[in-house]
Amino acid sequence: MTSLTSTPVSYAEAHAAHNYHPLPVVIAEAEGSWVTDVDGKRYLDMLAGYSALNFGHRHPALVAAATEQLSRLTLTSRAFHHDRFGEFCEKLARLTGKDAVLPMNTGAEAVETAIKVARKWGYQVKGVPDGQARIVACGGNFHGRTVSIISFSTDPDARADFGPYTPGFVVVPYGDLDAVTREIADERTVAVLVEPIQGEAGVIVPPAGYLAGIREACTRHNVLMLADEVQSGLGRTGATFACEHEGVVPDLYVLGKALGGGILPVSAVAADWPVLGVIKPGEHGSTFGGNALACAVGSAVVDLLETGEFQRRATELGEHLHARLRTLPADAVTAVRGRGLWAGVEFATAVGTGRQVCERLAEHGVLAKDTHGSTIRLAPPIVITADEIDFAVEQIRAVL
Ligand code: PLP
Repeated sequence: MTSLTSTPVSYAEAHAAHNYHPLPVVIAEAEGSWVTDVDGKRYLDMLAGYSALNFGHRHPALVAAATEQLSRLTLTSRAFHHDRFGEFCEKLARLTGKDAVLPMNTGAEAVETAIKVARKWGYQVKGVPDGQARIVACGGNFHGRTVSIISFSTDPDARADFGPYTPGFVVVPYGDLDAVTREIADERTVAVLVEPIQGEAGVIVPPAGYLAGIREACTRHNVLMLADEVQSGLGRTGATFACEHEGVVPDLYVLGKALGGGILPVSAVAADWPVLGVIKPGEHGSTFGGNALACAVGSAVVDLLETGEFQRRATELGEHLHARLRTLPADAVTAVRGRGLWAGVEFATAVGTGRQVCERLAEHGVLAKDTHGSTIRLAPPIVITADEIDFAVEQIRAVL
């Protein structure tokens, strides 16, 4: 490690909580699919901020929208209207096909919003007795880090020693349609919260028919389907929303990450009025939610998605990525999962841990992130080229 790198790393070690274990790379600049560290070394970014950078680093249209807005108005709070709010909400509602949206900042806040909306809907519309609402979640889930959200996590690192836990959640195995259907049938169930593809768990694609089966059971039992598309949505899988691959329209979308264009945190839930209309003034909100800068960037993000170009690229380049990954030696790579420009690559334990693979990949100029055990996750910016994908896969081969 050079001195340029070691100073920021040692300052972080000394003065920042150790809640992350970053690779020893100190990034100073970025553009498109590439980042440059403080020593001038370039790396291909195969993580893209966990899909927050779907449009690449500093996409010109997003930087232009942010810069224009910075020179005019950034924040009013929701105590007043501002001239970018309505436009953003209308655009996002149109993109999702829903009546209305509720903007927040982080993904976890949007998930909390979905939980609150579903519980209130359960009491006021479905008629569940007070205090008895249940929400069904899935094993291996990742929905964020708040106390309520980690209350239904099955990851000991995320959950242990943070109790007492929020009640009102039931966890069933991901991908098990019978198990989730049984819980949906319970008359106290108000919602199912599901990732169409589980990202943090290692890019796990559920069996065909799973999402459609949940949709059907939710409709039959008057239960809300809440799709957490924070990571899977907004182009990543080759569709605007990953639910589209099964022709499923959830009752509520949870969105975040790429909605802020990699510039600032922007999240939202989107639903029709019979659902979102249960929230009245004073019952939910955020000082920064729906701020003018966020709305300017979020509107520009919707404009990019409406061209369809990113969904198309993720489909075509995703096929290329998966085809290339399948050429890696079968004794070293035991599984490749995913959809679109999103892949979980599982290595044989003899190869090493995911962390070790990522450390070696960084030396070879490729940034990726391990998930659990010996799995790494690839989710490059959708602006990546086929040649750059080839470069990344060749570096994996070299590391193996
Ligand atoms: N939901 C999903 C599916 C996620 O992948 C994440 C983050 O990785 C979140 C929610 C939480 O988002 P945030 O980190 O912005 O709170």
